Amino acid sequence: MKYDYLIVGSGLFGSICAYELKKRGYKILLIEKRDHLAGNIYTEDNEGIQVHKYGAHIFHTNNKAVWDYINRFAEFNRFTNSPIANYKNKLFNLPFNMNTFYQLWGVKTPKEAKAKIEEQKKLYHIENPKNLEEQAISLIGKDIYEILIKGYTEKQWGRKATELPPFIINRLPVRFTFDNNYFNDKYQGIPIGGYTQIIEKMLEGIDVELNTDFFENKEKNLELANKIIYTGSIDKFYDYQYGALEYRSLHFENETINESNYQGNAVINYTEYEIPYTRIIEHKHFDYVETDHTIITKEYPRDWKIGDEAYYPINDDKNATLFKKYKELADQEKLIHFGGRLAEYKYYDMHNVIENALNFINSIK
Ligand code: FAD
Repeated sequence: MKYDYLIVGSGLFGSICAYELKKRGYKILLIEKRDHLAGNIYTEDNEGIQVHKYGAHIFHTNNKAVWDYINRFAEFNRFTNSPIANYKNKLFNLPFNMNTFYQLWGVKTPKEAKAKIEEQKKLYHIENPKNLEEQAISLIGKDIYEILIKGYTEKQWGRKATELPPFIINRLPVRFTFDNNYFNDKYQGIPIGGYTQIIEKMLEGIDVELNTDFFENKEKNLELANKIIYTGSIDKFYDYQYGALEYRSLHFENETINESNYQGNAVINYTEYEIPYTRIIEHKHFDYVETDHTIITKEYPRDWKIGDEAYYPINDDKNATLFKKYKELADQEKLIHFGGRLAEYKYYDMHNVIENALNFINSIK
């Protein structure tokens, strides 16, 4: 055989595997069905602004080894995610912290904020929350729920909060400090010049074929290499024989605007139900670039059907059971490894994918 490994998919998982296996002397072919590299972390240069084409991507991790690893492929800036919520034209800081509590209730000290939250929770005696609405109110009270959670969540899931299961919100982190940093992680940033360069560097010197769908020539592709690393959808690999795993999808609407600064922040969430998008991203604020124009993206949650871009797996019992059946098939494969978010039907952040890919490579004898 010409190749030791066929890698299906040029996202973070496939590309790290390709890079690490090449270093170990293996001969690799990577195929990618899209017309570009990098999977969902793909960023496209638009006159100096790096546009995150598949949704805003902010790198964050507590794992120093992962941080050091990704920094080998690009220099990262000091971007700190501090999203803002817009509810009926009033602005609130996120995540829920002393700034938010001041904006909501005028409270100025942690003691006052804690008392206010307790008072709100006590207004409703919910012992066993039966749905997401009851769960959220029992955790945080009615004001925060109605202003900052309800509409956003209903748009995100396409269902009323009273029809959503309580487990979607297990806990709602609140901070009694004036700290708008969304992530608690030690390391955070955005690669200067975007994410695509990271994947390009990983794939230097590797045979890559774009616009090549594994399934268009499945039988031939299965014969191309001694082993396969597959990062596409697991249910599709098995011809949806048990049915399709479900997702939520997204629709992105990009707009170029002839002003240098549209909203003053990278991410603004729209938390009222009546506005159909969940957030507006202004890409230039990830990179701190100075240009006369700006590019914004409105993010609309969508129902998903086979053929649409799959973004968020639905973590309910039905899909968990279905995935288990596909996983049993995958576990029997001797020459094919299933990795990454689509093959494992799991929402992973980038740092999880790096860890998983490196663990997998290190497990190869
Ligand atoms: P992918 O990037 O999806 O790569 C899979 C690749 O395989 C794709 O290029 C696909 O085209 C290709 N492929 C699939 N099927 C075939 C086939 N049949 N033939 C050939 N090629 C195929 N993570 C963070 O850490 N921070 C964030 O801020 C963040 N924001 C996110 C925002 C959104 C809206 C979403 C959806 C995800 C976000 N993530 C974020 C998660 C991040 O996108 C993933 O962790 C990462 O992209 C997963 O990499 P992957 O290689 O597993 O999958």
